[in-house]
Amino acid sequence: MSQTVRTRPEGSGQPLSEAYDTALLDLDGVVYAGGSAIAHAVESLGTARGGGMHLAYVTNNALRTPDTVAEHLTELGVPTEAGDVITSAQAVARLISEQVPAGARVLVIGGDGLRVALRERGLEPVESVDDDPVAVVQGYGGPDLPWGRFAEACYAIGRGVPWFASNTDLTIPSARGIVPGNGAAVEVVRIATGAEPQVAGKPLTPMHRETILRTGAERPLVVGDRLDTDIEGAFNGEVDSLLVLTGVTDGAQLLAAPPRHRPTYVDADLRGLLTGQPEVVEAGDGFRCGGWTATAGSDRLELDGEGEVLDGLRALCAAAWTAAGAGSCGLDGGKALARLGL
Ligand SMILES: [Mg+2]
Repeated sequence: MSQTVRTRPEGSGQPLSEAYDTALLDLDGVVYAGGSAIAHAVESLGTARGGGMHLAYVTNNALRTPDTVAEHLTELGVPTEAGDVITSAQAVARLISEQVPAGARVLVIGGDGLRVALRERGLEPVESVDDDPVAVVQGYGGPDLPWGRFAEACYAIGRGVPWFASNTDLTIPSARGIVPGNGAAVEVVRIATGAEPQVAGKPLTPMHRETILRTGAERPLVVGDRLDTDIEGAFNGEVDSLLVLTGVTDGAQLLAAPPRHRPTYVDADLRGLLTGQPEVVEAGDGFRCGGWTATAGSDRLELDGEGEVLDGLRALCAAAWTAAGAGSCGLDGGKALARLGL
């Protein structure tokens, strides 16, 4: 990876929906949360699409099929075809298909999303090590996945069968709280076997490659709420990214981001797709965006001025990321963020 270190958010004279041909959108924390649409998501996506931007939805969740995801989005008011949904199950199925003979049997530890994706690549999902699989794949199986499925994976790995995982997100949000995700299930098998899986999902490149192959995007913009999956995935794929603050990332995490976690743009929500982005410019020994000027002191970040909250955050990003260079900013941004109500 030979990317230059980003030290400030970029500006854009054009609305992002015109500057990029395709938005590769994360779902949870971007389009919906807990089953309901996030504020401004439905209208913003409708306007972006009406203006000619291609919208695709990219999820690490391997349980649901693209059909199910598309139906859910359409019900929420975001009309979506299954072909515009890309899952980590599809990415891992392609990865497996490149390493095993056509029509090969693959042991599935997970849900229907994996089985459908394997069949799409001409592979045969099987449920037992006694079916002589040539690969074993593990994806999120939902709360009812029996413990015995992990044993089945261990038997296969013990026989030398190569092990694949759709993704390694340790947790997954549910209506009642945070629960173990596929990454936690992968850890169970890793601890029991000492083996290492090949992983496809965000932030790794097999997932990004799958989205580009399926969308044909020439100038894609990754849109996400998580620094260590969405934004790092864009960094690894060497494409631009927009962080929205409607999900898991807060201002302090953004200011402390190392280079691979720094988005190209930051905005409050998906309305950011429809507007240009202001420039952050050097001003004295600090950085100005809109009415705000941010500087890095010896132990904390300072913010002066007034104006739009997001402009203040963009100026602070420039001060923090410049001070941190290729590392992670350790300066205290708490007071400056409090001025912005963040
Ligand atoms: Mg998310």
